[in-house]
Amino acid sequence: MIDLVTGAAGFLGSHLCDALLAQGREVIGLDNFFTGRRQNLAHLRGNDRFEMIRHDVINPILLEAGRIHHFACPASPIHYQYNPVKTIKTSVMGTINMLGLAKRVKARILLASTSEVYGDPEEHPQKESYWGRVNPIGPRSCYDEGKRVAESLMFNYHAQNGVDIRIVRIFNTYGPRMALNDGRVVSNFILQALRHEPLTVFGRGEQTRSFCYVSDLVAGSLLMMERDGLTGPVNLGSPTEVTVLELAELVLRLTSSRSKIIFKELPVDDPVRRRPDIALAREKLGWEPRVTLPDGLRETVDYFQRVLAE
Ligand code: NAD
Ligand code: UDP
Repeated sequence: MIDLVTGAAGFLGSHLCDALLAQGREVIGLDNFFTGRRQNLAHLRGNDRFEMIRHDVINPILLEAGRIHHFACPASPIHYQYNPVKTIKTSVMGTINMLGLAKRVKARILLASTSEVYGDPEEHPQKESYWGRVNPIGPRSCYDEGKRVAESLMFNYHAQNGVDIRIVRIFNTYGPRMALNDGRVVSNFILQALRHEPLTVFGRGEQTRSFCYVSDLVAGSLLMMERDGLTGPVNLGSPTEVTVLELAELVLRLTSSRSKIIFKELPVDDPVRRRPDIALAREKLGWEPRVTLPDGLRETVDYFQRVLAE
């Protein structure tokens, strides 16, 4: 049975391909290389169980697959806001195309959804039953609303066509192979610290996030894909909540950096608090993150150091 991974050249997609291949599976990756890089998959060249196809998911494709891991979509605010109409097309048309494929070839399909469907939440921590508070016309809406429509499409194809679906709602995830230029807070702070440049904390840094290391996230997604009788959505993320300022201080300590912290304007609609309730993942998947934030950050710092040295 073939596992199809969309967004395979990206941060999460490339780690997912590695994990699937390590399980002995046959993998086809799709990517249009908008934010993904060949370098993320360079180590798989010559692996005869892996094949890469340049393809934009807004166009239909027909191939054989038993599992579709649908991860294609830019994930960092600067990338998804670069061409917001394209971001919506990727989420909506891309998900329709992958669902159409799943329906035709009778594949199981998992959608990489996001904590952003909860928007700037009034409920804390966020449970899967919470409907969210998203500004439908704000700068983040191309991503948030795109993923909300994608979730709706998944459930409608499931009800109407019997497609076998899985949805995971991924909270902030970090680790090696995050793009250096993607503007997310972990990559920004590590790069700034390694270059001894000021760390740019947006607002007063009191907003919170919960950061999950990539290997934990991939393990959770794979468990979800193979669990029978469970559509989700299921939250996957770290239950350890930190303020952005605490994260900055931790990165400074781990890198022994001379950088200062400076404060910049808070972006529009930046969520104030975010932490998943992972009771459902614990109960149904027996899953919870194992890697602590300092340990995961050390691995990520090592990666960025290697990339900067090259
Ligand atoms: P990423 O930007 O590194 O990877 C996304 C990949 O999708 C890239 O390789 C990109 O080139 C590809 N892509 C984008 N548009 C495409 C299109 N139209 N056709 C084909 N390929 C396309 O981001 P990531 O962090 O790896 O995120 C992967 C998925 O996980 C996304 O769907 C994202 O919404 C979801 N997610 C990620 C996080 C996180 O913290 N990393 C959190 C929540 C959800
Ligand atoms: N952030 C920051 N400095 C940066 C980049 C981001 O303070 O250089 C903040 C941002 O305002 C947000 C948090 O860090 O409150 C996480 O931002 P990111 O873009 O990584 O993810 P998201 O907002 O989608 O959770």
